Amino acid sequence: MDPNENPPHAAEHSSCLAAQARLEQQIAQHARQHDSVARLGQVALREGDLDTLLDEVVAAVAGTLDVELCGVLKLREEEQMLDVVSIVGFVGDQAPLPAGTGTQAGYALRTHEPVVAEDLHTETRFDATSLLAQGMVSGMNAPIEGHERPYGVLTAHTVHRRSFSADDVNFLVAVANVLSAAVERHRKEEITRHAALHDPLTGLPNRALALDRLDLALARRRREGIDVAMLMLDLDRFKIINDSLGHAVGDDLLLALASRLRESVRPSDTVARLSGDEFVVVCERPAGVRHVVSLAERIAAAVGQPFKLASGEHFLTASIGIVMAEGPEDTSASLLRDADAAMYRAKQRGPGRYELFDATVRAQVLARLRTETELREALDCDRLRVYYQPIVDLQSGRPVATEALVRWEHPRRGLISPLDFVPIAEETGLIIELGRHVLETACEQATVWQRRFDTPLQMFVNVSGCQLANPLFPAEVGDIAARCGMLPGTLGLEVTESVLIDETDGSMAVLSDLERRGLRLVLDDFGTGYSSLSYLRHFPLDGVKVDRSFTDHLGSSRPDAAIMKAIVEMCGVLGLAVIAEGVESDSQLRQLRSLGCTQVQGYLLCHPQPAEEIGEFLEARLRSDVGEAVVAHAAG
Ligand code: C2E
Ligand code: MG
Ligand code: MG
Repeated sequence: MDPNENPPHAAEHSSCLAAQARLEQQIAQHARQHDSVARLGQVALREGDLDTLLDEVVAAVAGTLDVELCGVLKLREEEQMLDVVSIVGFVGDQAPLPAGTGTQAGYALRTHEPVVAEDLHTETRFDATSLLAQGMVSGMNAPIEGHERPYGVLTAHTVHRRSFSADDVNFLVAVANVLSAAVERHRKEEITRHAALHDPLTGLPNRALALDRLDLALARRRREGIDVAMLMLDLDRFKIINDSLGHAVGDDLLLALASRLRESVRPSDTVARLSGDEFVVVCERPAGVRHVVSLAERIAAAVGQPFKLASGEHFLTASIGIVMAEGPEDTSASLLRDADAAMYRAKQRGPGRYELFDATVRAQVLARLRTETELREALDCDRLRVYYQPIVDLQSGRPVATEALVRWEHPRRGLISPLDFVPIAEETGLIIELGRHVLETACEQATVWQRRFDTPLQMFVNVSGCQLANPLFPAEVGDIAARCGMLPGTLGLEVTESVLIDETDGSMAVLSDLERRGLRLVLDDFGTGYSSLSYLRHFPLDGVKVDRSFTDHLGSSRPDAAIMKAIVEMCGVLGLAVIAEGVESDSQLRQLRSLGCTQVQGYLLCHPQPAEEIGEFLEARLRSDVGEAVVAHAAG
């Protein structure tokens, strides 16, 4: 200090000290605020629950700023009102506030700036009446920005008049920014979570969420004894619609269906999309089985209403399986399985049906399960036998081919028909192994007979859709035939119409490949499905096997004879061979001959039998005139 100057007054000295103390206080406050922001930033990163985070934030802000009231107001979706979502220091009425510029919070929201009011009594920018009514005198608000639109407002008020420093304002703004970032992160997480649990096309809950809701319902059932039901719905023939009208139309239909399903159920029920055309409804607290059945009927009726879309009018039906939770051991997986079994049974009974899972369905499911296990074992233990049934040329009476028909030699149940296990093999994928076994056995047998009788006797083998779905199948078949030494062009495959319908694109490529490899293709059971002329024209077929049901009625019913005649003529035009299945009587044989049918197969000529017996049959027919005599006799 300059010694010429007067020494400072005591008063001045004390004010200097006070200023220094204030400065130190400010520095300390600044440091506290700084720490608080840093800490809240960390909490925001760590805290998964937004509500908890907001509570922590308001408590910290109130403490750091030393204010009596601190809160977060959230802007509603409609953007007209603000709701109190977190608050400290106030226990009165937390009514929503208007979000316009008439309130301090609305003002901050609309101007995107912090709004500081030192004395609410003299405030002119907004209406402070309600704040004053709560006893507040000063306050600051800072907007919490969000994605595309503001999230809400962070508020701090005091009951004593106070002039907030620039540091105070900066602090509030910094905390509001921390909240903005946290809100945005939660929004993104919410979107990800939603996407993980919902079907992108229809917006309905997906399998994971449906099972989760079902698990929650089952837990409530265990605690409170409420009823829980589940409906599984599968559209009938949706694949055909999708393939023929295009996937865009299919998508539109699914969308329209989804909203109909949602409208058919109560808000507390969950409608979910499991996969392509499979939906479930989780129904909590239904008023008994009757309620669930009437829900199924309501859904069936809703599905059955025509769908009027830009692409035209479309009609759908659905098969519905219903299951009610029964025991404490029921799980979402077991209910899903049972609903599926009931749905499967509904489908078997025809389109547009529903079925309630009960003891009968349960028994069927168990039987199927047992069959599946045993069938696996049968494949491993070589218990499958291949029987053969000859196909005879009507003109010459000579066998021209045999069809391989699989049998299961069951240790207890005896010989089991393929009708009882091939469908199960198809569902479980065992058909691939089973099919290969039959194919190999049949090809080896065909080669033996071809050499023994020195004739290009053909061998027909039935194949399932799943086999044809494999693009490597043609090469595999070609290999087997060649390895066995079969004469070229003597192996034929029998496919049913459903195979052609099911996988139009894929099966077309596989069938063409098979044709290129010199395999003969025959359409089996013709007349039982769509009997569509377009299949006969489009697919590379060599012949058709007319279903037994037509042969059956030949003697008794005129239309069937006319249909058989039409089929024979149509196939003649298309250059396809016609084989009549299931010929059991002389009169049928005579009639078939007069209708121009060229080949026959049936009990009248020979039952399916093991290779040895069929070998004798072939020996007799190919090495003598006996066969010709039988056919000639029948024809004459
Ligand atoms: P399919 O291919 O239409 O075979 C003809 C069925 O009619 C055979 O039944 C045969 O025994 C029976 N049948 C033959 N002649 C007569 C007759 O005069 N009267 C009557 N009432 N029936 C006759 P099967 O052997 O029980 O085979 C049933 C079906 O199982 C077959 O129908 C075929 O679709 C399927 N199948 C058989 N073996 C295989 C196989 O190895 N793989 C595949 N995927 N399916 C097979
Ligand atoms: Mg067949
Ligand atoms: Mg058939």
